[in-house]
Amino acid sequence: MITFKSNILQTLNKNEINFQKNIYITIDNESGKIVSISQNIPANTHYLDYSKYLLIPGLIDTHVHLSQYFIRGKQSPSLIDWLNKYVFAEEKKSQNDQYAALVASSFFKDMIKSGTTTASIYTSVFKNSTDIAFKTADKFGVRALIGKVMMDCNCPDFLKEDSKKSFDESVELFEKWNQKTKLLDYVFTPRFAPVCSSKLMKKIGDFSSKNNAFIQTHLSENWDEMNWIKNLFPENESYTDVYFDNGILGEKSILGHAIHLNKREIDLLEKSQSKIAHCPESNFFLKSGKFNWHKISQSGIDFGLASDVGAGTILSMLNSMKMASFRQDLDLIELSEIFYSATLGAAKVLSKENLIGSIEIGKEADLVFVSGFNLEEKTGEEILSELVYLWNEKQIYSVYVSGNKLL
Ligand SMILES: [Zn+2]
Repeated sequence: MITFKSNILQTLNKNEINFQKNIYITIDNESGKIVSISQNIPANTHYLDYSKYLLIPGLIDTHVHLSQYFIRGKQSPSLIDWLNKYVFAEEKKSQNDQYAALVASSFFKDMIKSGTTTASIYTSVFKNSTDIAFKTADKFGVRALIGKVMMDCNCPDFLKEDSKKSFDESVELFEKWNQKTKLLDYVFTPRFAPVCSSKLMKKIGDFSSKNNAFIQTHLSENWDEMNWIKNLFPENESYTDVYFDNGILGEKSILGHAIHLNKREIDLLEKSQSKIAHCPESNFFLKSGKFNWHKISQSGIDFGLASDVGAGTILSMLNSMKMASFRQDLDLIELSEIFYSATLGAAKVLSKENLIGSIEIGKEADLVFVSGFNLEEKTGEEILSELVYLWNEKQIYSVYVSGNKLL
């Protein structure tokens, strides 16, 4: 057992900030779970005094590209131009084991330093780079969903996969890594509909529904992309309908961006219980557009925040919270809802709300201690506002995943 004394800041729903000062949190080392949260020190307990720090739930990134980690900050006028100019060439480099290992270790090291304890990760089309990402995540002790990118048409020859090979290799990786440890899941990762044949998407959808597997992809990010979809899939009435038709939607499907949706598309996502990863900084960076936060929030679709590195410039989810607020240029988002979307709301997106996302008895101890706050005579709202708008990377003092200290 290990006990901390600290000050919990969290949101257990979209509307309320929960701030508790001088609380004793006890973790069972073997299970990694929180076994007690109390205002009184448990009898005969030696505790670690973290009462100077703020304690928040481990932050969750619902959409990020590991294999793009070294090409952050490459300006381009728009998505397709950026992919062709920088991304595809960079992802090709991960074919080399040494390079893939270097990217993965840099990525996970920085992810931990950012206070992100869980992420849903895209790698490249190369099986070895995905295998290396899993091994590295396992070594660093983070919680992750990881998937090999799949592309079998309309992309450069040096990345284009044979459809059967793309599927078979993904299944091999699923069998090797999915829930191999309690921290790791496999996520099928068709990049986006323009570069995946219907045949491939249907196989993924079929396998996923039979095996309760995760799927992640991109949806409705950019207008050129959407026009491309119209040309490629003229029989479908919308981009979302393409995924629906090919069996990609479902409660374990995580759709990145989902910016330009019409009412019918929102209904389709809601009915299928599909989830959205909202990537505010990336949407600024590639001039993709504005996520309809309030409409989606009212719709009942679960959505969470995401860095979308490499189109996001930094892994920090504190940055994503600030960007989410700024991206809604004329509308205020409540602080509680912003924080929720990087913690418990994001856990729901990854179907892990019973495990992580908040600091409660019975949950896994994914914890982040943050320094640099004067906690005297301040409300939870004031402290959360400072966390969102005045964050600084150096403030991440200590990070635990399932009770193990990673930083
Ligand atoms: Zn992305």
